[in-house]
Amino acid sequence: MSTNCGPNRRSFLARSAAVAAVPAVAALAGGVLAEPASADTLPDYAPIPKSALGPAVNAQGYFVGRVEKNLYWVTDATYQAAFLTTRDGVVLFDAPPTIGHNLQRAIDEVASANGVPNKVTHIVYSHHHADHLGASSLFGRGVTRIGQAGTRRLLAQENDPARPVPDITFDTRYTLRVGGERIELAWHGTNHTPDNSYIHFPDHDTLMLVDILLPRWVPFDSFNLNEDVPGSIAAPATAMAYPWKHFIGGHMGRLGTRDDMTVYQHYVDDIIAGVKQALVAVDPTPFFARYGDNSWAAVQQYQKAQVDYATGPVIKKYLGVLAAADVYTASTAFVILESIRLDLGVGSQVHA
Ligand SMILES: [Zn+2]
Repeated sequence: MSTNCGPNRRSFLARSAAVAAVPAVAALAGGVLAEPASADTLPDYAPIPKSALGPAVNAQGYFVGRVEKNLYWVTDATYQAAFLTTRDGVVLFDAPPTIGHNLQRAIDEVASANGVPNKVTHIVYSHHHADHLGASSLFGRGVTRIGQAGTRRLLAQENDPARPVPDITFDTRYTLRVGGERIELAWHGTNHTPDNSYIHFPDHDTLMLVDILLPRWVPFDSFNLNEDVPGSIAAPATAMAYPWKHFIGGHMGRLGTRDDMTVYQHYVDDIIAGVKQALVAVDPTPFFARYGDNSWAAVQQYQKAQVDYATGPVIKKYLGVLAAADVYTASTAFVILESIRLDLGVGSQVHA
């Protein structure tokens, strides 16, 4: 890692890493890209509220801060990890590859300032995804890794050397005790992924739950790519049933609060309400009249009209409240529309 590029460039690179797969897909679909992207012709979006941004990252591209007592968080402004210092070593929670070697740098910085051991002895996995665990192997084989049974099963299938399988697994609950500290791990059913786990720090007033609430931002494309849409819609209520003040969401540059979770729940509820209205209000007739035998063209345009109907008022309401409401609300609404149609059966008409 060179240190000759400033924080802006570093955080830009970190952000770019998240979308690096997109041009490859476009090239596959179209053979050759007709026009290279030009900054002048890309669309405009509303400015994001300042409250969505966290503290500035340092010259090496990270920020490390205290959550509460000996619990710390690290961010590169796009991804987040956390660590707990103890008298016997450090427990790390997730190891995003975009933060990579900065994880140990952040730990060293905190450990030397507090005169505590800087050696990572345990890594807790939130879920199996590579974008949150891809730096796990940097900590070697001697570390004890802990994860849900599904995380172990999925990682064993994926067989990625960057993400060693957990040594200790649990089905529904596990209490991790290290150096006099206590961490409660729990699995409450599928949501973002089949294995996504709740990491509760009862002595630090903190909950870590990754890829559900991204504090002060709307979800990433298509409702955070959540595998189980009803399970993901239900997850915030499960999170709120825990006692906590601080929230670590795994993404973007800031920690969350209970108010952030409530705003997020209202945002999702507003999309659901809009979609339910759209399912009855938008008339399919003109779309099928226009496209005849081309059913997919008719369905595509009909559903686009439903999404536009559902999201217009939601985008207006949340601009200035949640960052990028105008960027990703439509793709999230489409995923929620399909779940309401297919999982809940709303809008299904039985042929007479
Ligand atoms: Zn994920």
